[in-house]
Amino acid sequence: MLAGASPVISPDSLEILLDPALEVLAVFQEDVGEFAEAWDHGDIGPSALFPERGRIGSIEVQERSQLSQNALAFLAVVALRPVLAAYFAECREHVADSAWDLGICPCCGAPPGFADLLEDGRRQLACHLCGTSWTFARLACPFCGTRTAAELVRLMAEDAEEGYAVGACRSCRGYVKELDRRVRWNAGSALVEDWGSPHLDLIAHRQEFWRPIPTLIQLASQ
Ligand SMILES: [Zn+2]
Ligand SMILES: [Zn+2]
Repeated sequence: MLAGASPVISPDSLEILLDPALEVLAVFQEDVGEFAEAWDHGDIGPSALFPERGRIGSIEVQERSQLSQNALAFLAVVALRPVLAAYFAECREHVADSAWDLGICPCCGAPPGFADLLEDGRRQLACHLCGTSWTFARLACPFCGTRTAAELVRLMAEDAEEGYAVGACRSCRGYVKELDRRVRWNAGSALVEDWGSPHLDLIAHRQEFWRPIPTLIQLASQ
């Protein structure tokens, strides 16, 4: 986990991705000036974007940079992913068949960004920050852990495309989009499918559900 063994990441190595990500945020009316200045002075560095308990990026950094939590999480996903994916390459192999049963990434600690239903019916959660996937109970909320069936709902689009669904929790109001790969065997990666299905996020948001890893829609509408 990142908290125990943080990789040493040079700020320079992130800038090729961080700079365009900041530009995207600026388009969405985020004031990125404070963050950019603190980054240039070395006051905010790569570790500021690491996942913490239940969130991405530290509260101190959020206050210091005056970015929204969604904006900070967006920067983390875009800028950190290649570095963390390389750092956790070995970890990923070990968790594939392990008995990890928490709703956070066993390698980096981030909340899940997407869910896949596999051939054998297992549900696999995907981490957008480091690219790890891990098996998780189908009938449990990855965010609050509830297994109460009445709290777990599926939100479907009116013109639902087969295989796509939103799994939401009435208890904590969290949701994660889900793709049934038995039906959509030729679909893209979890990250591609997630970012390519904003209409499902809209459905969830209209019903006042939230997700910890933001999509562009959330950045645009905040
Ligand atoms: Zn991860
Ligand atoms: Zn929940």
